[in-house]
Amino acid sequence: MITVLESINLSTLYLNQKGIESPRTNAELLLADILNCKRLDLYLSFERPLSEEEVQKYREHIKRRGNFEPLQYIIGKVEFCGLELKVNPSVLIPRPETELMVENILNQIPKEQKMIILDIGSGSGNIAIALAVNLPLSKIVSTDVSEEAVLVAKENSERHKVSERIKFVKHNILKNDLSSFPMFDLVVSNPPYVSKESYSTLQKEIKNFEPTIAVTDESDGYTFYREISAKVSAKLKENGKLFFEVAQEQSEGVVEIMSKNNFRNIGVIKDYQEIDRIIFGERI
Ligand code: GLN
Repeated sequence: MITVLESINLSTLYLNQKGIESPRTNAELLLADILNCKRLDLYLSFERPLSEEEVQKYREHIKRRGNFEPLQYIIGKVEFCGLELKVNPSVLIPRPETELMVENILNQIPKEQKMIILDIGSGSGNIAIALAVNLPLSKIVSTDVSEEAVLVAKENSERHKVSERIKFVKHNILKNDLSSFPMFDLVVSNPPYVSKESYSTLQKEIKNFEPTIAVTDESDGYTFYREISAKVSAKLKENGKLFFEVAQEQSEGVVEIMSKNNFRNIGVIKDYQEIDRIIFGERI
């Protein structure tokens, strides 16, 4: 019979040997998921013995994590802006930097405003859903090139009861235009922005498990900023806003692309690590 504490200690050692960052936290979060409790609750039940079934499942999940599979794919969920979302390997795992983008959009828009919003690159639906929940009069179109991603995003929107105000559409922004879409008040995107060159330097968790097409443009990293800025320029109402998440050191390049495409009052917001992360501007 093995207890909660013993199994956490053993798993921590294993993950540490495998080179996983924060092994103890990972070991605790994986066990909390299996026991269906909060991580801190484990501390109140250190002496609780694990059942045969729990041990087997825990061993399996720890092994997957030791193989660098992201924790979020193993437990199948993530929290984004206070909302629990389902994730699987067909969608990018939502990041805290993207929460920052949503918070900044919400700071700039009165809650009761009726907004028509376009979100390019739905992924799990995180951005569209968080905006729909917090802007109750808004209507959102959210596009993604991946059919599997559209399915996950739809399921998440149903779970949070905003599916009637979000239309998820399979659409390739690089290949297709936006002529069949309405005029928008706001466009937002966290596009695949990692350059081909930097992609090879990313962690195994990302390279081996997250969808490549959600992470890199396999070029200079600016492909989507150029295409989106040019295409949405014609689809934004006067004074309509465009918000982008960018990678470290891309802000200058993206500001330039936006200026060339009729955007003014361009602003840059830094993330928690003081890195330029969100760029926004107004269509003149
Ligand atoms: N909108 C999703 C996110 O921000 C997906 C973005 C993407 O696939 N590049 O996490």
